Amino acid sequence: MIEHNFKKKFGQNFLKDSNIIKKIIDSSEIEKESLIIEIGPGSGYLTKELVKKAKVIAYEIDEDLKEILSKEFYNEENIEFIFEDFLQRDIKSDIKKYNYNKLYVIANLPYYITTPIINKIITEKLEPEKMVIMVQKEVGDRFSAKVGTKEYSSITVFLNYYFDIKKEFVVSKNSFIPKPNVDSMVISLTKKKNQKKVRNEEKFFQLVKNSFKYKRKTLKNNLKDYDFSKIIEILKKYNLKEDIRAEQITLDQFIEISNNI
Ligand code: SAM
Repeated sequence: MIEHNFKKKFGQNFLKDSNIIKKIIDSSEIEKESLIIEIGPGSGYLTKELVKKAKVIAYEIDEDLKEILSKEFYNEENIEFIFEDFLQRDIKSDIKKYNYNKLYVIANLPYYITTPIINKIITEKLEPEKMVIMVQKEVGDRFSAKVGTKEYSSITVFLNYYFDIKKEFVVSKNSFIPKPNVDSMVISLTKKKNQKKVRNEEKFFQLVKNSFKYKRKTLKNNLKDYDFSKIIEILKKYNLKEDIRAEQITLDQFIEISNNI
């Protein structure tokens, strides 16, 4: 195993199971002439397999890993390491210099910034074809939740607006060094082919956020500042009751509500 002083503050739990790496690569279905973004290569265990498939830009915040990585990837042409905080970096200008057909994000994410990373990818319009990411298991359950379940939340609706989300497989905490407290899950998010667009994204995101503000409250109570009579018309169309909760409302219904208020 590598000589490295693992840093909890950077979410450093490195994979040690080659079978999991293989399964991540298989789930990614990376096409030729692609560009891969990896966030947090760590010691390069996953990176080693990624560079066999396509060009990779890997962002690593921990400069202590520079030596290990530069030794491991000495003479490797398919890799560019950027030792900076992914969240602070202008990713668009980094990827501009490459010619590629499709963009992928493949990473065993640092869990303390899972949502900020995904938000950045969406708001900065990187528009990857596919993301295959390892997240905390319960986060994966939330991202891929079905309508009507307790895990279904505003982030589920946001992500489903852009992506088809699939649970790939669960990863035991024993597959990492050091061993974390929780199990993990690999999920894939594939860009929607026929994305149904809302008229005003900002308005839509605000509506969804407000709808889920207090989980135990009804939609009507969470949306006190809206003209609810218009919303009722749409609920009626779908045979939904007035005292419904946000977790019962599908993405398409949220889109319709947003477009009509
Ligand atoms: N890819 C390796 C693996 O699978 O074994 C390591 C994954 S580890 C869960 C997360 C990695 O993300 C660590 O190497 C950590 O230093 C790095 N990291 C944490 N915060 C980061 C940030 N803001 N920007 C870039 N890398 C970060």
